[in-house]
Amino acid sequence: MKNLIVFDMDGVLVDVSESYRAAIQATVLHFTGTEPTNDDVQSWKNRGGFNDDWKLSHRMIQELGEEVAYDDVVERFQKIFLGDRENGNAGGLILRERWLAAEGLFDRLAANHTLAIFTGRLGWEAQLTLDRFAKEIFHPVVGVDHVSHAKPHPEGLHKIREQVPHGKAWYLGDTVDDARASRAAGVPFIGIAAPTSPRRDELVQLLRNEGAIAVLEDINSLEAVIGDTHS
Ligand SMILES: [Mg+2]
Repeated sequence: MKNLIVFDMDGVLVDVSESYRAAIQATVLHFTGTEPTNDDVQSWKNRGGFNDDWKLSHRMIQELGEEVAYDDVVERFQKIFLGDRENGNAGGLILRERWLAAEGLFDRLAANHTLAIFTGRLGWEAQLTLDRFAKEIFHPVVGVDHVSHAKPHPEGLHKIREQVPHGKAWYLGDTVDDARASRAAGVPFIGIAAPTSPRRDELVQLLRNEGAIAVLEDINSLEAVIGDTHS
């Protein structure tokens, strides 16, 4: 019987420091003239409740004293992130994403595990990246538009568990909200805190406080944590 591993996407499967994180910085800069540091963004993430990068960008803009309509923030963010195709810019920061898994990791894991995703991305935006790096590996893929309550609500994990009810389960994530969703769902949580992430010590402590059974530098050391639990 296969066990289940559920992955968060950003910061776990994909390095988004040059994409989503940079899009937050560029969006805030656009509306306020002030560019927040990576460290600023991380400190908001560490507070919890800001898994949604649109919501976070909007809040950071407000915090800098500018009143901008939420929809305008979303529109600008999406142009920076996906490119502005109508105006001849098909690029966008999404192209700077980096896939983090080493060759062969998911082939080995898939032998004994069902691999799934629970992400704060929209489903199609998750698929865009999966099509580039890892087609046909993860089932199901639950995005924010597949649930009525976003993280830290555990709905997405419950949904996946309904489809894959057998065996043990783990959830891997890189934020406080991921850890909270996991705890609320009763699924053991494994934290990821990249060596390059700002405020790393604080993040490690936060993830441990939220019940992480381990905090890893990246997913490539995952097998050492779950390796003894196949039986
Ligand atoms: Mg994440």
